[in-house]
Amino acid sequence: MDYIPAKTILQKVKFDGNLWFGIDYNINLYKGCNHGCIYCDSRSARYFIDDFDRVRVKENGLGILAKELGRKIPKGVIGLGAMSDSYNPYEKKLQVTRGALELIETYGFGVSLETKSDLITRDIDILKRISEKSSCIIKLSITASDDVLARKIEPSASLSSKRFAAIRKLSDNGIFAGILLMPVLPLITDSDENIINIVNLAHEHGAKFIYSLFGVTLRDVQRDHFFEKLAQYFPELEREYFTMYGNRYQCNVPDMARKQALFAAECEKYGILYRMADIVAGYKQVNSEPEQLRLF
Ligand code: SF4
Repeated sequence: MDYIPAKTILQKVKFDGNLWFGIDYNINLYKGCNHGCIYCDSRSARYFIDDFDRVRVKENGLGILAKELGRKIPKGVIGLGAMSDSYNPYEKKLQVTRGALELIETYGFGVSLETKSDLITRDIDILKRISEKSSCIIKLSITASDDVLARKIEPSASLSSKRFAAIRKLSDNGIFAGILLMPVLPLITDSDENIINIVNLAHEHGAKFIYSLFGVTLRDVQRDHFFEKLAQYFPELEREYFTMYGNRYQCNVPDMARKQALFAAECEKYGILYRMADIVAGYKQVNSEPEQLRLF
C-alpha cells in the first residue's frame, strides 16, 4: 500500500447538496479504486487520478480529518465514496473508513456513504450509533441483478447477491439503506427483466429507496477504457454503441421514457422511494425522530 501526502480531507460541496442525497461535505481518504467497474467515471481525465486502478491512502488522513471536524464549522452530512470505494480490499486491515466513521460520530455529523462492498456490514455498530443521533444513509451500488453479469462489468466488487444481503443486514439494524442503480448501461443492463428483478430484490431485502439514471456518461480516457472492455466482453455491441452514440457524452438507454415509467411503477408497487427529494426527506426525517421525541 502506498501513502500519499494530503493537506486537507474535508471539502464543502460546491453544488446544492439536496441534488445528491443531501450532502454538505465530501471526504476521500483513498485515491484510486481497484474494483475495476468498466464504466467508472472517476477515471476521467478531469479528476487527475493517475494509475486509477492502484489504491493509495492519504497519509495521516484521519489526523487531518479530526482537526477539521473539531473546528467550529456547521454540522452537516458528510459524503463518502464518491471518487473511490471506501471499502476497497485494503480497508479490511487498514480500517481508515472505520476510523472516519468513528470521527463523524464523535463530532456529531451525519453520513451518506456509497459502496459496492459488503465489508460495510463490519461497521454496522458505528452506523447504528450515527443513525441514532444524526442523519445516516447507505447506498449499495447495484447495476445488475445477475451475479454473472455483475462479475463482468464490476469484476472486483462484491457479487450483487452479497450487496443485496448487506442491505438486508443494514435494514435489519435500523439503518436507512437502499440502492444506487446507476449507470444503467444501454443494451447491457437496461432490460426490463434486470430493472424488475432489481426492484423485486430491493423489496425482498428491505431497501428503502432506489435512485437511478437511465444511461451512462462517457468521456476521454473513461470512454476508451469502456470501449476496450466492451470489445473484450460484449464484442457484438461495439458497433451498435458507435452507431447509437458516436462520441456523445450522455448516452441514454433506448426507449428511456418507457423504462423509467416501468421502474417508477415497480418502485411504487412496493413503496420504495425513487425521487431524490423523497429519499433525502425520508432519511433525514427518520433520523430526526429521536430528536423530536427528546423534545417531547
Ligand atoms: S467501485 Fe466506484 S470508484 Fe470503484 S471502480 Fe467501481 S464505480 Fe469506480
